[in-house]
Amino acid sequence: MTTARPHRAADPRRRVPRTDAVLAEPELVAAAERLGRDRVKRAVTTAQQRARDGAIDPSDVAADALAALPATASGIRPVLNASGVLLHTNLGRAPLSDAAVAAIGAAAGTCDVELDLSTGRRGTRGAGAVTALRDAVPGAGAAWIANNGAAALALVCAALAGTGREIVISRGQLVEIGDGFRIPELIESTGARLRPVGTTNRTHLRDYADAIGPETAFLLSVHPSNFVVSGFVSEVDVGELAGLGPPVVADIGSGLLTPHPLLPGEPDAAGALAAGADLVTASGDKLLGGPQAGLLLGGGERGTRLVEQVRRFPLARAMRVDKLTLAALEASVTGPPTPVREFLDADPAALRTRAEALATTLAADGVAATAVDTVAGVGGGGAPGVELPSAAVALPARYAEALRAGDPPVLGRVAGDRCLLDLRAVPPSADAVLAGAVRAVRGG
Ligand SMILES: *Cc1c(COP(=O)(O)O)cnc(C)c1O
Repeated sequence: MTTARPHRAADPRRRVPRTDAVLAEPELVAAAERLGRDRVKRAVTTAQQRARDGAIDPSDVAADALAALPATASGIRPVLNASGVLLHTNLGRAPLSDAAVAAIGAAAGTCDVELDLSTGRRGTRGAGAVTALRDAVPGAGAAWIANNGAAALALVCAALAGTGREIVISRGQLVEIGDGFRIPELIESTGARLRPVGTTNRTHLRDYADAIGPETAFLLSVHPSNFVVSGFVSEVDVGELAGLGPPVVADIGSGLLTPHPLLPGEPDAAGALAAGADLVTASGDKLLGGPQAGLLLGGGERGTRLVEQVRRFPLARAMRVDKLTLAALEASVTGPPTPVREFLDADPAALRTRAEALATTLAADGVAATAVDTVAGVGGGGAPGVELPSAAVALPARYAEALRAGDPPVLGRVAGDRCLLDLRAVPPSADAVLAGAVRAVRGG
């Protein structure tokens, strides 16, 4: 409310616009549609206070409020992964393909995830994703999808051994996957009993054979996905275990469906089934390049029957995956190559060319940037020890923190006195955004 008193009008605090006037500005109306009115109103209140305090000019209240608002109604922000770690658990592991994102969009509303539109009756939930997996993995007679790899494994243990039966596993495979998550503790939490055999470094076929008895539910082979052991070590192949009689479950971890030439040591689902595993469990968001999910694949008659037994187990309902995941998984398996696949298959010379182009444009803007050769890795999601030749833009180390706090945030890695922006896990389409983020930091 303005009055005719000139000495008051001159006071900037008196010129702070009213809340409803600010909220009526078209950009703030749009923001309220995107983010909800309460959140926008809080930002306006904060901006008004800043104007009263003299921190901003009263005419900038709307702009100040807008600048403080996030891009989406979720607090989760996209981060450019220039760490050189392809599957970074703290960054949400595999980035989804455009095809998967589009599929999520299509499934987001009401959809036919569990309705047969031709008959109008209830359909098989997620049939498309299950069919996609069976088609993609030679030898898979049945498939089921859980919330994540740990859920798939836990469910198998609960359904097949939860009444206190024994799961025979090598001591060398009693592993911790990450963030304190330990496979043996997960298994025992289902009511199953572990029957560890062999030693930390060496386990032989006869160790398994000696442990098998009437209490045996299955033999479990767990792929150590985040470390390698070398020296006087030996483990027994899935193929040899398959000859012993009891069902064999292979937790391959990474979700590689078929072999990849760059990852010769990484087990794949088709290979494990061909070797004789009855069941394979794996993650959807590691090397498969899809959404967080747990895959359960069954091979042969027995494996197909076991998938059905697991699927029918009451706890399965508590691990059921949502429609968005089913849509994204199907699109990741059937669609164009996933980003993870493209990162893996990237030509090191092309990465070097991109690094040089970026360093040249940044140097022209006065940034101390150079192109360097680097070594990238797959990450905790699989293929430990695999070195992927890569290229990076090298900046002074102080850039690392500023880039992480930037918009969009960029996660590089610090090596000595340099901050390396490794391009292995940066899609080429994001190079301009990456350059922009560096320039913004330099300017700030
Ligand atoms: C990653 C991993 C898991 C856990 O899978 P999530 O999808 O993270 O739940 C289990 N076993 C192995 C061998 C793994 O590599």
